[in-house]
Amino acid sequence: MSDRYGDFVQSSIGKKVAKNLGLPLPVGLDRFESGQRLIRGSVLVGAATGEDNRVSQAIARIFSELHAEIFVNNNDYVKGALADAGVEAKANTADDNKFKVLLFDASNISNASELKQVYEFFHAVARRVERSGRVVIIGRPPEECDDIEFALAQRALEGFIKSVGKEFKRGITAQLIYVAEDAEQNLDSTLRFFTSARSAYVSGQVIRVDKANAIDIDWAQPLGGKTMLVTGASRGIGESIARVLAREGAHVICLDVPQQQADLQKVASEISGSTLLVDITSDDAGAQVADAAEKRGGLDAIIHNAGVTRDKTLANMDEQKWDMVININLASIAKLDRYLLDNDVLKDDARIVCVSSISGIAGNLGQTNYATSKAGVIGLVDATAKQLSRNDKGMTINAVAPGFIETQMTEAIPFAIREAGRRMNSMSQGGLPVDVAETIAWLASPASGGLNGNTVRVCGQSLLGA
Ligand code: NAD
Repeated sequence: MSDRYGDFVQSSIGKKVAKNLGLPLPVGLDRFESGQRLIRGSVLVGAATGEDNRVSQAIARIFSELHAEIFVNNNDYVKGALADAGVEAKANTADDNKFKVLLFDASNISNASELKQVYEFFHAVARRVERSGRVVIIGRPPEECDDIEFALAQRALEGFIKSVGKEFKRGITAQLIYVAEDAEQNLDSTLRFFTSARSAYVSGQVIRVDKANAIDIDWAQPLGGKTMLVTGASRGIGESIARVLAREGAHVICLDVPQQQADLQKVASEISGSTLLVDITSDDAGAQVADAAEKRGGLDAIIHNAGVTRDKTLANMDEQKWDMVININLASIAKLDRYLLDNDVLKDDARIVCVSSISGIAGNLGQTNYATSKAGVIGLVDATAKQLSRNDKGMTINAVAPGFIETQMTEAIPFAIREAGRRMNSMSQGGLPVDVAETIAWLASPASGGLNGNTVRVCGQSLLGA
């Protein structure tokens, strides 16, 4: 879909006009391309001082495989952890060093005054982050800290990182990862995602990584040998999800309604996947998915992407619009999941990823039906996550909540509302379907077993519901 204003401000005259009028200045965002190095630029790694070096060791281990140029500040004890992992870090002594990634281990920050170390690390380099740069802090989940001082300091990091996301602009994203104690071995997929161009439109997020089985993985094809089903795969975000999962090595079963047969077949044949023509609200949807999955030995992931809008203010909304949206966007997902879990269609370590919306977080005028359905999806994820963590099969469920994504769905929004939705975020632009797809590929990875019950917004840090 076209963003004429966004294109205009890329030109030198457009940039000048926007600057003089104080208008938003969206920059072109870096996006991942196959064959590229994951991190294209220098990384500054830092750590708060303290006894516990488990997070720093995990960072060192992960970066020893990434072949990025690593810098550390003088005397930062993280240098030792990096050296032990075989990473030769350079000293950050020149004032003109620029960084693509700023990464800080804050897991030792145990009271309010120690937060000063966060200020010191980031203040010194706040003007030296490159366009489409990445800022990541790793801490401990406050809810698991018994000590009040420790808990408040860790919780405080959330305010810091969300403010950085709003301040830095130029396509720079900022995230906070809370890793549980002894779950450091499960950080790999999350750190790779958030330090790379794959997370182009994800910002201001707080992610929780828990303990899970560590899995050996071929990072060039992390989904190799996996069978994954995507609902609503014939176009828009679903098509992009199918393409990215296939790019990462998965066989994708592309599902959509029979009316979409031609488009669905085109997508499936281009990615060597298969098709399944089913309305997910039909009584036998579960059985049909199970049949298709059985032919491939079961499902490693299901991505619940299919969804519709039927917007009207509540006073003007007829019953049919309410029923249809709740049925497709929510009730059918719950029913399908129940069927797949009860009938062992999902394999051990399977991943369920649901597509919610920031409308389900913030609510939206004219969308009582849609927001109810998408908030319900988050409820489904929270409750199912608890159940899955008890059943010991390594399965997980997470949600993505897209903000304004350039698709047919958003093209249909009236101009003024569309323009507001597009600009009211830290990136001053809409996201692309591929941004949602990359986020789903990360959550669907076998290496993401530590992620369960997260709702990750793909919204460029939209102001709505923030
Ligand atoms: P889209 O309308 O382009 O695609 C939706 C797909 O779902 C279509 O292929 C459609 O045929 C299919 N579908 C609809 N009902 C179905 C049914 N009963 N059974 C099987 N398939 C069905 O929409 P999109 O913009 O690509 O949105 C995809 C998902 O992302 C939806 O869940 C939507 O709510 C969510 N979302 C989109 C945005 C956005 O900005 N586009 C923002 C937030 C959330």
